[in-house]
Amino acid sequence: MVNRRFFLCLTSLIATYTFSSKNLANNINKAKGKIIIIGAGIAGLTAGKTLQNQGFEVILLEARNRIGGRLWTSKKWDNASVDMGASWIHGKQGNPITKLANSINAQVFPTKSEKAIIYDLNGKIITEDKEEKLDKLAQKIEQIIIKIQNKYNDDISLQKALEKELNWQQLSNSDKDYFNFLFNYNIELEYAADISQLSAFYFDDGKAFDGDDLLFPKGYTVISDYLAKGLNIRLNHKVVSIESNNQGVNVITNQGNFQGDKVIVTLPLGVLQKNIVKFSPPLPEKKLGAINQLGMGVLNKLYLLFPKPFWQKNYHWIGKISDKKGQWSGWVNLESALKKPILLGFNAGKFGKEIESWSDEKIVADAMKNLRQIYGNSIPQPIDYQLTRWSQDAFSFGSYSYYAINSTPNHRQELAKPINQQVFFAGEATSVDYPATVHGAYLSGLRVSQEIIAHQ
Ligand SMILES: Cc1cc2nc3c(=O)[nH]c(=O)nc-3n(C[C@H](O)[C@H](O)[C@H](O)COP(=O)(O)OP(=O)(O)OC[C@H]3O[C@@H](n4cnc5c(N)ncnc54)[C@H](O)[C@@H]3O)c2cc1C
Repeated sequence: MVNRRFFLCLTSLIATYTFSSKNLANNINKAKGKIIIIGAGIAGLTAGKTLQNQGFEVILLEARNRIGGRLWTSKKWDNASVDMGASWIHGKQGNPITKLANSINAQVFPTKSEKAIIYDLNGKIITEDKEEKLDKLAQKIEQIIIKIQNKYNDDISLQKALEKELNWQQLSNSDKDYFNFLFNYNIELEYAADISQLSAFYFDDGKAFDGDDLLFPKGYTVISDYLAKGLNIRLNHKVVSIESNNQGVNVITNQGNFQGDKVIVTLPLGVLQKNIVKFSPPLPEKKLGAINQLGMGVLNKLYLLFPKPFWQKNYHWIGKISDKKGQWSGWVNLESALKKPILLGFNAGKFGKEIESWSDEKIVADAMKNLRQIYGNSIPQPIDYQLTRWSQDAFSFGSYSYYAINSTPNHRQELAKPINQQVFFAGEATSVDYPATVHGAYLSGLRVSQEIIAHQ
């Protein structure tokens, strides 16, 4: 948990950084030291900007040919930027990303979860009594989760716990379909894992900001582009190993070695789990334990661009109850935000991963089959599509971290701990308060900067 004193430190860093437009690259104070940052995602960029503003010499090494990491806006379509990674500022009130967006006058668009329209198994809008039923089942799930988290002694999968408490075998097929819809739409799409993979104790641990969620009609990379200004970033520099000794750190990349006083590692959890970046000396057992205990989830996106909209324009979210659990249950109508007839479909967890092995054509055809169940056979074919395969991404191996069974917030704390005040760690998976988010990654960049400033 962030204690009050530490929170104040972060607040002052946010203030320095948001309101100072000066590029202090020219004020580098060699005595402060040279910091090598691995990864130019939001965590690395934030740490880089903060430390450079404080007079440190900073260099960022980024394996991709672009900055942003899991902030990645595609400009493939004319006048319609679509985010292949993060889309939303989750909870605008008090969110540091809202503050950052405001400071650069970034255009934002609020989406509201209550502006949702849900379709039944038969493809018809759910009737009022079915809507009431869905609400009641959702409340029941919430109550059961509170019970599990307060009364159970040992962690088990969320699925096992829910099924036990719901007397799953006794439920009608229709109730099972309704519950499965809620599990996927409310939980699996948010945590990027199946309920069978999530820890019943901790899957929803953390804090949240209030208020609407905000989209960036021009793409989330307005934020990373802003943060990157004035930083020394080496693209296409894939780090293969990190050595540290009394003299400092030596970071070996595919394009040569980089020496510094300290290194900040913002590698995604999925990359750390693959053990493809070597550490010398090796990472401590406890940190390795944390890396392996936490889960790296999968959330994939499919954008479909149509010749014209055929859906109801005044809803932001479209839900579909299905007898196939976890398949195409949630869509976003992007027409109002992007002024183009675009739908965004999601799949998470096991199904999200499974379809990565399908051809693009098969994924689009499956999505269209589901949309036709709602809107009928006469809807047009999409003009074009864009889709993601995050579990196969060589610089992420997944979308974001989740609490797997038997993992705890201590594992995130362990992941965040520096080694010998030389090798520091940041990134969304190190955030206890806001894991799996852009703001969590951003705050981790401020936290790690604070650690370095405190020990200079
Ligand atoms: C599909 C999807 C949807 C999401 N939706 C949202 C959302 O709506 N709202 C939200 O708040 N969050 C969302 N997230 C989560 C959010 O995007 C991440 O939490 C955040 O961007 C992570 O930032 P980071 O700096 O920790 O990691 P990253 O952005 O992954 O940065 C790490 C960097 O390290 C680089 N790297 C990897 N390996 C090497 C190497 N060997 N050498 C050098 N560099 C390397 C990577 O290329 C990357 O640039 C979403 C993520 C995904 C994938």
